[in-house]
Amino acid sequence: MSTASPLALHRFPRFSLLEGATPIQPLARLNRQLGGVEVFVKRDDLNWLGGGGNKLRKLEFLVGEAIAQDADTIITVGARQSNHARLTAAAAARAGLKCELVLTRLVPRYDDDYLENGNIVLNGLFGAHVHDLPGDANALAFAEERATALRAEGRKVYVCPLGGSSPAGCLGYADCAAEIVAQSEQMGVPFDYIVGPNGSGGMHAGLVAGMIALGRTTPSVIGYGVYGPAEAARAATLDKANQTIRLIDPTLGVPSEAVVVDGSQLGDGYGIPTEAMLRAVRLLASTEGLLLDPVYSGKAFAGLLHGIKTGAYRAGQRLLFVMTGGLPGLYAYRSAFEGSR
Ligand SMILES: *Cc1c(COP(=O)(O)O)cnc(C)c1O
Repeated sequence: MSTASPLALHRFPRFSLLEGATPIQPLARLNRQLGGVEVFVKRDDLNWLGGGGNKLRKLEFLVGEAIAQDADTIITVGARQSNHARLTAAAAARAGLKCELVLTRLVPRYDDDYLENGNIVLNGLFGAHVHDLPGDANALAFAEERATALRAEGRKVYVCPLGGSSPAGCLGYADCAAEIVAQSEQMGVPFDYIVGPNGSGGMHAGLVAGMIALGRTTPSVIGYGVYGPAEAARAATLDKANQTIRLIDPTLGVPSEAVVVDGSQLGDGYGIPTEAMLRAVRLLASTEGLLLDPVYSGKAFAGLLHGIKTGAYRAGQRLLFVMTGGLPGLYAYRSAFEGSR
C-alpha cells in the first residue's frame, strides 16, 4: 500500500520487509461470549520475516534511513528477550548489514528458557553480535560508545533506539493507520477503538499520528501500558506522536487527549507475568487458535477483556485489536505457562 499512501510516505527512505496489507478478521467464536461487543484482529503477527512481529513496520523506515546514510552496521538496544532486537537482526541480515544488539537483564527472570531460548536463539541464527549487560546498565549509552569505537575503525554505524521508536520508525504505524482506514471502508465496518499494547510507545504514537494526519477522530486508539507507569508512557507517546506527525506535515499537531494509556495491566512491571495475561493468552489460543505473547499483546488483550467486563467497551461497539506477534516469547516464558495450568 506504500506507493498509494495518502500520507505521501514515499518521501522517506524505506527498505521493503512487509508482504502487503495484513488481514483484519473477526474473532468469530470468542465474540459469541462477549455480550455484544465485536472484536476484530489486525493480523500484524503475519508480517513474518524473521519470525514476525510489529517491529517490521518500523524497521522498513529505520533500515531505509540506515541505507540512505550509507551505514554498514546497525546497533540497537533492548531487554534480553527483545522482539525488536531479534527483528532488527533479521532485517539487517536481509539488507546485508552487520548487526550488534545491546541486551540488558532488565526483566527479573533467570531460568534457562528466558536467558537462552526464544529470541536469543534466533539472534544467533541471524548472525547478530549480542552484548549481554546487567539489568541496571544504560544500554543506549553502551550502544553509542560501541558505535564510536566502530567508527574509529572506519565502520559506518546506525544506532536505533529502544523499540525502534524514533519518529522515522513511527512512520511505519502511521502508514498502518492509513491501511486500517482503507480496510475498514472496504469492509463496511467502522471501528470505535483500535486497541493494543504500549511498550516503547512507537506503535501507539504512529497510529495516533496517522489517524490525525488523515483527519480522523475515530477510531480512537487505546494503548495498554506494559513497560512502565501509565502517565510517563502517555507523555512519551504524545511526544513521539507529535514528532511523527510533524515529519508528515509540519503544520499539524496531536492534541493531548488523543493519547490514552491504560496502566491497569502492567502488574509488577515490564516482562513480569500477570494472572490476567496468562488467562488471556490461553483463552485466545484455545478459542481461536491465535497466539498472543506474554510481554505485550497478552497483557493488552487482558485489558480488552477487562474493559468489556467493566463496561468500558459496550455492546454494539467494534474493537480492532492489533496482534503484534512476539511468538518466540512464549518459548522463553515456558515456566510461567507451566506453573499456571
Ligand atoms: C515491541 C512490541 C510491542 C510494543 O510496540 P511499541 O511500539 O514498542 O510500543 C507490542 N507487541 C510486541 C510483540 C512487541 O514486540
